[in-house]
Amino acid sequence: MPDDFFAVLLSQTFDGVYRVDRSRRIVSWNAAAEAITGYSAAEVVGRYCTDNILRHVDDGGCDLCTAGCPLTRTLASGRSGEFRHYLHHKLGHRVPVLMRCAPLRDDEGAIVGAVEIFRSLAAEDVRLQEIERLKEVSMTDHLTGIGNRRYGDIVLSNLFENGWSNPAAIGVALIDIDNFKSVNDTYGHAIGDRLLQMVAKTLRTTLRPRDVLSRWGGEEFLAALPSITGEALIAALERMRALVETTWLDVGDERLRVTVSVGAVLASADEPLETVLGRADALLYRAKEEGRNRVLVDVPQVGPERAVNPLRAAGRSAPNR
Ligand code: GH3
Ligand code: MG
Ligand code: MG
Repeated sequence: MPDDFFAVLLSQTFDGVYRVDRSRRIVSWNAAAEAITGYSAAEVVGRYCTDNILRHVDDGGCDLCTAGCPLTRTLASGRSGEFRHYLHHKLGHRVPVLMRCAPLRDDEGAIVGAVEIFRSLAAEDVRLQEIERLKEVSMTDHLTGIGNRRYGDIVLSNLFENGWSNPAAIGVALIDIDNFKSVNDTYGHAIGDRLLQMVAKTLRTTLRPRDVLSRWGGEEFLAALPSITGEALIAALERMRALVETTWLDVGDERLRVTVSVGAVLASADEPLETVLGRADALLYRAKEEGRNRVLVDVPQVGPERAVNPLRAAGRSAPNR
């Protein structure tokens, strides 16, 4: 796990998280805590719960910071707990929250502090979270778990029409499973679905985190690789092709494999998106015509329509499946 995992998690989560030491002095305060309460880390870190900044109250309006503070109970008992309370927002109003407190212990097991995690239950915040969730659902392909066509469309238009990212070079690749109809015809649609999932996962693992993969059509995928050189694009796509070729699905006694053909271009963001997709599609068509299981890339710096296929380069023909 990378060293910054917890730091990234804390800064990106929707939940407010803060930590206190044994004397209930606030020692950390994350971005969501700032967003939910209106108080910045600079305003609260170093202060004590007893300074009464957050002024937790229960349903009856009873002040919990001076009497019945959940953190005090957690520090004393070592037990975690979940509560529904109200926090004080810097602007004065009350914020309903669902909160959890948990003790923090040192290596010997002694309680050295506690953490409080809280989630706003205010109607508008819950609605925003729901919108985020629905956005995620509406842009995910249910079968493979990667982005769907809509997601791919949005990301591509951001890359090309808004000049959102590196305007110099974006790799765009159309990846199509070879002879997939006959796989379905021979083994059935359910096995076809499992192969589609296998290919999607394999493609995803060959890409960098910032690259985008979407299911563009039935057995066709689109990958966008922003800020990439021609050589790196060729290498990534060839790795992709080779990894799919060497991946299999065991079904009974049979070991099922599929291959992919790829048509790709290294484009500049000021080229119209339709032209880019048209060029990639034409190369994919040619890759199919030339025998499938191959990658054709148009990389201006390297030379147009450079074909990449180590089997062909070695004078052998690609395996025919
Ligand atoms: P080519 O190498 O020329 O791409 O041949 P192909 O057979 O892959 O291409 P074709 O377009 O003739 O067939 C695509 C097949 O993909 C047909 C369709 O049944 C299958 N397919 C599309 N979506 C799905 C899906 O969600 N699940 C399954 N199991 N099959 C699918
Ligand atoms: Mg196909
Ligand atoms: Mg197809």
